[in-house]
Amino acid sequence: MSAIQNKLFIGGKFVDAKDGATIAVHNPHDNSLITHVAEAKAADVDAAVDAAERAFPLWSGMAAAERGKLLLKLADRIEAEADALAQLEAIDTGHPIRDAKNIDVLRTAACYRYFGGMADKFQGSVIPVDAGFINYVQRAPIGVVGQIVPWNFPLMFTSWKLGPALAAGNTVVMKPSEITPLSTLRIAELMAEIGFPEGVVNIVIGYGHTAGQHLAEHPKVGKISFTGSTETGRRIVEASKGNLKRVQLELGGKGANIVFDDANLIAAVNGSAWAIFHNQGQACIAGSRLIIHEKVADEFLERFVKLASSIRLGNPLDPETEMGPLTSTLHRDRVLSYVDIAQQQGATILTGGKAPSNPDLSKGCYIEPTVVRAKPTDRVSQEEVFGPFVSVTTFKDDAEALQIANMTEYGLGGGLWTRDLSRAHKMAREIRAGMVWVNSYKRVNPGSPFGGVGQSGYGREMGFEAMHDYTEAKSVWVNVDAQILPHFKR
Ligand code: NAD
Repeated sequence: MSAIQNKLFIGGKFVDAKDGATIAVHNPHDNSLITHVAEAKAADVDAAVDAAERAFPLWSGMAAAERGKLLLKLADRIEAEADALAQLEAIDTGHPIRDAKNIDVLRTAACYRYFGGMADKFQGSVIPVDAGFINYVQRAPIGVVGQIVPWNFPLMFTSWKLGPALAAGNTVVMKPSEITPLSTLRIAELMAEIGFPEGVVNIVIGYGHTAGQHLAEHPKVGKISFTGSTETGRRIVEASKGNLKRVQLELGGKGANIVFDDANLIAAVNGSAWAIFHNQGQACIAGSRLIIHEKVADEFLERFVKLASSIRLGNPLDPETEMGPLTSTLHRDRVLSYVDIAQQQGATILTGGKAPSNPDLSKGCYIEPTVVRAKPTDRVSQEEVFGPFVSVTTFKDDAEALQIANMTEYGLGGGLWTRDLSRAHKMAREIRAGMVWVNSYKRVNPGSPFGGVGQSGYGREMGFEAMHDYTEAKSVWVNVDAQILPHFKR
């Protein structure tokens, strides 16, 4: 692996923080120190916003196809560097290397490629208005956009945010999570090499309450795109009110995953394990609530628990590893605290609920895949645990399944397993969520809108929806040969 970049990226240059502060970044496999990264505070964020503001006329004035070409080049470079990027992501986040390479890196490249192709295909429109007038609507970039990213999928989420923002002609100040900033800095290095003009993208690593808050409040920032917890999302909305900046929020989730009695049980068991245990359950769309028809519950759970307890935990860099550590010690402890909470409310731990006994993993942030039988009203069935922790409950009929599915405050992702076509469509319509998967779970694609309802936030990433969210409609009226209205005619 080449030397790891650890400075802020402002105005096309890698720089130390103005006050020289740094943040330690650790490998969650053994908590060893990887590097210290520069820590941005308000003055560094100001410098980044100024650089983005200076770059805006050039970037937004460039032919859309030229912007697209740079994004396409970036996609190619990411694929060419797949191994190194996957390694960096694996040591920084704990993602198993095979997922980091085959999912994170490939989806990241696909996302930049999609929006690279989109840049010159996202069109305005001509509206049939009053006689004698032409009215056309342009999709104008917003200006300087602030983007705040969490630690669970840093590489991929960076592409979800940068791709549409840049394709649409905005310039960006991005604040990655202070816990996992490394792959984002590598992307910045690639952008600089490829020839993105300086200041188009600026990366400020820093803590949420300082750098993040300052960015969210900044009067020169026209929009904040935020992915993170619902609690922080509320702070972002508060912080945005000074200049009424636009806000798009991708927040928490508590995905309902319903298994009906006519489901292909083997597919449902495998798919449900993927739904919760991929990335150690640290996914906002994770299928963290299994809702199973009582007729098939025993057979399903026997198979599911067996599968969960056979998942290979290990060093993320080992290609055989299926589940790595959680991303930080603090978070591991938070997830483990939910085991006590579950037991206090009378839930039964069917498997897991503790750190693995393997001494090779004793220094890391590992937790065994955990399956808990709980009431739908229990805290573990209502609150986002954000770990390899699934709560299981049963239902008698479709109406009860739907009632349980819709009884949390969240509304991000949800899934269902059935062979009955009309039930599938009906449930997909009725589940309160931004995304529903039928006989699968956790599919994403750069063309398909991603986001939630209720406490899961608003606005959408990906696809044309994202391009709309990163632009303003500008309506232009041209008098071609219209008669001037009689008022004030002299
Ligand atoms: P978090 O809200 O603590 O932090 C997210 C980001 O916000 C980080 O970069 C953090 O530094 C920053 N931040 C924290 N306080 C801030 C403040 N006051 N002002 C501005 N920025 C601030 O969340 P997290 O623990 O990093 O991530 C996990 C959460 O993210 C989970 O709740 C999860 O569901 C959610 N998430 C949602 C989606 C989605 O697309 N809906 C995707 C991934 C994660």
